Amino acid sequence: MTTSSPTRPTWAEIPRSALRANYGILRRRAERAGAEVVAIIKANAYGHGAAEALATLAADGCGWFAVTSLDEARVLAPQLAGQRMLVLSGLFIGEAAEVVETGFTPVLGSLQQLGWLSATTPQSRDKTPLLLHLEIDTGMARQGIPWDDSRALAAFAERLAEHPQLRLEGVMTHFASPEDTHSPQTGQQINRFRAALATLQQHGCVPPLIHAGNSASLFEADQLAALCNIAQQSGSRLLLRPGIALYGYGPHATERGLQPVLSWKTRITALRTIAEGEGVSYNATFRATRTTRIALLPVGYADGYNRLLSNRGEVLVRGERAPIAGRVTMDQTMIDVTNIAVAAIGDEVVLLGQLGSDRITADDLAAHTGTIAYEVLCGVGARVPRVWV
Ligand SMILES: *Cc1c(COP(=O)(O)O)cnc(C)c1O
Repeated sequence: MTTSSPTRPTWAEIPRSALRANYGILRRRAERAGAEVVAIIKANAYGHGAAEALATLAADGCGWFAVTSLDEARVLAPQLAGQRMLVLSGLFIGEAAEVVETGFTPVLGSLQQLGWLSATTPQSRDKTPLLLHLEIDTGMARQGIPWDDSRALAAFAERLAEHPQLRLEGVMTHFASPEDTHSPQTGQQINRFRAALATLQQHGCVPPLIHAGNSASLFEADQLAALCNIAQQSGSRLLLRPGIALYGYGPHATERGLQPVLSWKTRITALRTIAEGEGVSYNATFRATRTTRIALLPVGYADGYNRLLSNRGEVLVRGERAPIAGRVTMDQTMIDVTNIAVAAIGDEVVLLGQLGSDRITADDLAAHTGTIAYEVLCGVGARVPRVWV
């Protein structure tokens, strides 16, 4: 350890073996469908650490990665050795020149973005053409050219054709309800995607790649079959874009053999005993109903440990569950260890993860805070060191 390594005892532990096992499951599923996985490592690999995630998955042969922005891609560039990097949010104003220079693959969502790229890319140059992808909005209403805007699709195809140094490599869409098997929305989006691809084809655009879906799409047989079918029809190769499943979450993750990757840990740094009637933390929202032993944890909402866990959340210590006592504060949290007589300063405490046969998942924390596992994982603060093991 260098002297600049963090020494405050709060950290996230990330076993490479778990990420690799999850990736292996996803890759085998994709391969069985004749498709390839794009590993989604946006938002610092959902809080796990994008640089390590990229290195780990690239070593296992993953050839496609995706982040949200050029800002996220730029810092990972030195690690790329032939792997492709999709930039899902396309281009923000002023970014075109750098994207052209670096060779990341932007997913364009509008004619305006194509305009920026073509204005920046020399018509003839020695370099290989810039490969780009196009997003079709089939019902997310987030980004992309609307599936039924034939004029915009035609204009996109025409402007591309005018520019020899820009090449459409992929066309993609994003599903709004892929994990909801009762919703007709995915089927509708797939039909719209097919229609948009047909329109592009009429204007001479046949992308070598198409992609759609998220983690759920790899496990929903109907979705997967429909996407394979579209790829076959248009003579394209299919890519699939799992994110949350890589990290061990999503619907039915356990039944699907996926394991949560990230554990979040801290240690007891102080203990005190308070009398019945005494309050704990701001505004004394916890009041001792008996002589109570309180342990101090050096983690708070500034670390992403949500304040809504106050008086609600639990942690694992010495093989037992201990409830949070009073308000989670910015940097510290107190727990009630009255029932855990052996609890001592220095004990490891699991905020998220497994201890013995018990476990607290990101879904459990999300249930307390009214959100989803995605937000819990992304919310583990920058102040919490990621320790890959
Ligand atoms: C985040 C994202 C994904 C991954 O979704 P998960 O639900 O995490 O599998 C896939 N595609 C796009 C466009 C995304 O933004």
